[in-house]
Amino acid sequence: MRIFDPHIHMSARTTDDYRAMYESGVRAVVEPSFWLGQPRTNVGSFVDYFDGLIGWERFRAAQYGIRHHCTIGLNPKEANDARCREVLDVLPRYLAKDGVVAVGELGYDSMTAEEDEVFAAQLALAVTFELPAMVHTPHRDKAAGTTRTLDVVRDSGIAPERVVVDHLNETTVAAVADSGCWMGFSIYPDTKMDELRMVAILREFGTERVLVNSAADWGNSDPLKTRKTARAMLEAGFNEDDVDVVLWQNPVAFYGQSGRLHLDPVPGFAEHEPPAAGVTFEGNSVLRGARV
Ligand SMILES: [Zn+2]
Repeated sequence: MRIFDPHIHMSARTTDDYRAMYESGVRAVVEPSFWLGQPRTNVGSFVDYFDGLIGWERFRAAQYGIRHHCTIGLNPKEANDARCREVLDVLPRYLAKDGVVAVGELGYDSMTAEEDEVFAAQLALAVTFELPAMVHTPHRDKAAGTTRTLDVVRDSGIAPERVVVDHLNETTVAAVADSGCWMGFSIYPDTKMDELRMVAILREFGTERVLVNSAADWGNSDPLKTRKTARAMLEAGFNEDDVDVVLWQNPVAFYGQSGRLHLDPVPGFAEHEPPAAGVTFEGNSVLRGARV
């Protein structure tokens, strides 16, 4: 089974997670740039973070056989902080880079006027850079937040098939299905959406335009939720092709619109190939000293 997790914050995870993901079939990920759990205080903090996503994190994933891509944007929560507004000025530089497959995470947190402005500005950047947009829906007041999100997307002029609206549930999926945007679902351990509810949604709405992710980060989350959803699909009577559509072909089709996915096996991880030795990123490796 091959799996592409289209939303996971790997820089918050360990090398054990990378190893377990690879063993579960994960071969590619997209890491959306987002909040750090506490406020950043200046644009430099974002610049170092963005550099880490396209540099060190991509290298770290490759050491475990996983192709890493990212999305770059000013997240909804920090859109409200005047100290972070300058981030909009540095985005064009990052949106031109290889491995950056969308603008995101965008959207609403508390649905403020500041969030409106930053959301619209970044959708315009997605249009300019011909990139997909990865849109987060608020965890509070989700139904109203999703409706307003779809209005802003429509007004921006971006093609709906280039937008994924994420963190959906039973109350928000229908509106997004009707909009022509892609439907994203984050499968969490205790809250919001689980494997069995996901399977029920797939039964009702089908497998087209659906992305399933773990959204794993530094909070209560599980980087193997993609694999667990695949298992739940098979147990519920979906076949291997259905699983491949949802967990591989769909993310490839959506993020492939960037023209920047790298999906060939990482050197050293193709079948019958010896592991690559002595690889470093700017002189640093994930190893603690030489392999014994
Ligand atoms: Zn996220």
